[in-house]
Amino acid sequence: MTLPLVDTHCHLGHHAELSVAAQLERARAAGLVLLVDVGTDVGSSAAAVAVAATEPDVVAAVGIHPNDAAAATPEALAEIDRLAGADGVVAVGEIGLDRYRDRTAPAVQEAAFRAQLAIADRHDRTVMIHCRDAWDDCVRILEDEGWAGRRVVLHCYSGDPATTARTVANGWFHSFAGNVTFTNAAALREVAALVPTGLLLTETDAPFLTPHPHRGTPNDPSYVALTLARLADVRGEDPAALAAAVLANARRALPGAGA
Ligand SMILES: [Zn+2]
Repeated sequence: MTLPLVDTHCHLGHHAELSVAAQLERARAAGLVLLVDVGTDVGSSAAAVAVAATEPDVVAAVGIHPNDAAAATPEALAEIDRLAGADGVVAVGEIGLDRYRDRTAPAVQEAAFRAQLAIADRHDRTVMIHCRDAWDDCVRILEDEGWAGRRVVLHCYSGDPATTARTVANGWFHSFAGNVTFTNAAALREVAALVPTGLLLTETDAPFLTPHPHRGTPNDPSYVALTLARLADVRGEDPAALAAAVLANARRALPGAGA
């Protein structure tokens, strides 16, 4: 039996072997009814908008990734602003802070982050957050920019329990990726059990973060089934009930995403 599944964060244009069409065929066979194709720069954002324009079960997020924040020139931000208003776009992202791959100066990342939060606000789009090793600053900036209680998706969630108390209180959505299935991810699974069912989402971040037992091969959205199953197990919930809840959450988190 296939459950109705959601991948709230994938990069369909990044797969080295499978075409977008091939990935969507596999995804639909696995039960996926909604996918969010996410941009990391102007080019991949425009490509995501193009896929969303032709595929009924795909919507797009547009934004400049914190590791690419040096490319967030006024011209590039104007292009993201234009794309954010396009049909099929449900979110501005992925945007945020990354202190793990410290390629871009923190001040440059923060400026690009704040500028893109303003774009999301202007278009009433959800924001899709990439945050690594910078949770205090990420939460502070979101709160400072007025996003507490608004539509925020924390992509590939990895906060600790104290952070999670704050993100849950702010009503933000926590999207878990394949790393929650990794053998050494016990702490992340404990956090996944803390998030209320109504604030839980599933994603692949494909072609990255391939879930167990397929690690070492490229990820694709069909593998979100493994993440959903592991989350249900960790949380002691029925997989079918959790899948239905995640789909309802995705529709609330990302208005305009039909399915
Ligand atoms: Zn991503």
